[in-house]
Amino acid sequence: MKIALIAHDKKKAEITELAIKYKEVLAEHELYATGTTGTLIMGETGLTIHRMKSGPLGGDQQIGAMLADGDLDLIIFLRDPLTAQPHEPDVSALLRLCDVQKIPLATNATSAVVMLEALENKIYFA
Ligand code: PGA
Repeated sequence: MKIALIAHDKKKAEITELAIKYKEVLAEHELYATGTTGTLIMGETGLTIHRMKSGPLGGDQQIGAMLADGDLDLIIFLRDPLTAQPHEPDVSALLRLCDVQKIPLATNATSAVVMLEALENKIYFA
């Protein structure tokens, strides 16, 4: 499966923690991430991740383009709901495309755990 990992700045610690905990499961899949998130996760886990541009510089749109092409199977996007983002239109577009394509999307760490547990237990197959 192709999985995208994205986290706003205040959620980067949470996504790194998740990636460490589920490293073995994630390693079985093809991983994509926005720039800074990808660099952090690779540094902490040693996982191989295809990195896009940083989110505010177009990375969310690059992930969105993959979604539009039907090229992603699952997205974990830990959003910061309490901080205004300069690239909010890109974020909204990405979330919308997940619904257009019916791609599973976790926007907080708890829902991400549900998805990762499902993956680990082979409950969910795209
Ligand atoms: P980043 O982008 O991983 O480059 O910080 C995430 C985002 O803000 O969408």
